[in-house]
Amino acid sequence: MNKEEMYRSIPKVDMLLQSQKVRTACALYGRTGVLQAVREETDSLRVFIRETEEEEAVRSAIASLPERIADRAEAMFAPHLRRVINGTGTILHTNLGRAPLGRQTAEKAARTLGGYCNLEYDLESGGRGRRSSCIEELLQHLTGAEAAVVVNNNAAAVLLILDTLARGGETVISRGELVEIGGSFRMPDVCEKSGTHLAEVGTTNKTHLRDYEAAVNENTKAILKVHTSNYAVVGFTESVSVEQLRPLADRTGLPLIADLGSGALIDLSQYGLRGEPTVQALIRQGADLVCFSADKLLGGPQAGLIIGRRQYVDRIRENPLMRALRIGKFTAAALEDVLREYQSAERALRTVPVLKMITAGAEAEAQRAGRLAQLLKKTCPAAEIEVRPCESQIGGGSFPLERLKSRAVVLHPHNLKAEELEQKMRRLRVPVIARLREDAVWLDVRTIEDDDFELLAQMLGEVLA
Ligand SMILES: *Cc1c(COP(=O)(O)O)cnc(C)c1O
Repeated sequence: MNKEEMYRSIPKVDMLLQSQKVRTACALYGRTGVLQAVREETDSLRVFIRETEEEEAVRSAIASLPERIADRAEAMFAPHLRRVINGTGTILHTNLGRAPLGRQTAEKAARTLGGYCNLEYDLESGGRGRRSSCIEELLQHLTGAEAAVVVNNNAAAVLLILDTLARGGETVISRGELVEIGGSFRMPDVCEKSGTHLAEVGTTNKTHLRDYEAAVNENTKAILKVHTSNYAVVGFTESVSVEQLRPLADRTGLPLIADLGSGALIDLSQYGLRGEPTVQALIRQGADLVCFSADKLLGGPQAGLIIGRRQYVDRIRENPLMRALRIGKFTAAALEDVLREYQSAERALRTVPVLKMITAGAEAEAQRAGRLAQLLKKTCPAAEIEVRPCESQIGGGSFPLERLKSRAVVLHPHNLKAEELEQKMRRLRVPVIARLREDAVWLDVRTIEDDDFELLAQMLGEVLA
């Protein structure tokens, strides 16, 4: 066959549409989508013919065309966003969706959202209700704050607060608290987008109360404290707490705002994790407004939570930006469910995945790693399996200095390089994200749910076979 003959031997579209595999694809995905798959596959076949001289390869590519069309149609309708198994040991992994929601929360939300829901409908009165009113009540109850309001994320919360209270004036902030968060976003830039000017006081390592006092003038609209969540300034340092700033706020009548970042509702110092004040503590210390993320230490979906004095929260609620920054029903369903769990701390510690992972002791993880290793030894004869000590991180810009003692199941494949295994694991039907260390694949069990052990063992067995 010469090239011309090869091109002519590509079946016509009508012929392809009659093959059994393509007909099945049409029934599943509809004709229009399958036609696109037909075009894309025949185009790539033409490219292949142009670049090859091997007649046999072309013949077999033509023979498998219907199958590849069906596969491509299937891929067109398969979600790109998928569940993965996190074997990295980083609990709040920004690239893996930050806080994992937990299957129960996800299932409850899915049941609520399958059809209509009472998002803005009051079932008692039969009239209009307010979106997130029950979430706000839960937040008030859990934190002791007078009022609460919910937006899309914490950056939006900071923007909305300053736009409402400090636009056109100055906001006093310590130079030690000018935080860059993930993705190269800088909180000072977000703040200034609200139209407030940041009046920076103090130095990187030391800021005194007198620095704040000296900066307040007739243009000052607010005092902002930002929790240094993702870094620590240590050594010769001094900062001014919310409690110490309260008298200045009282004297001047300025709102005292705290961007807490992670926002823990449960005191984690009892689990050896220090330096992260709870949201309730900041309210008690006298912050007028506290804002924090719902998908960091709280363990919920992406949202920004604002709590504090009713007079300020009411003004924030009436800001037209509120309409642009409000949460959707997916977030509302998941957030309500997670906050309900917090009504009992002991229950939340059992059911909220982030809390469960943070508070699990090294002993418990050693036992779990032993169990996973046992399973893997059965399904993966083509690898040496061992349990090794390792350290998990909290991640998500929380507890930057803390490490949790944990255990990893370590795989040394016999017939593959460790890098090849790691790559293949990312392409499994439920992708597994692992770390490469010392020429082996490491799976920290802290971030892997018990429910996934069997599946993991089965999939790894297939990959290594
Ligand atoms: C993470 C963080 C933010 C941003 O929160 P998002 O929910 O990601 O928008 C803002 N401020 C601080 C101090 C943070 O740690």
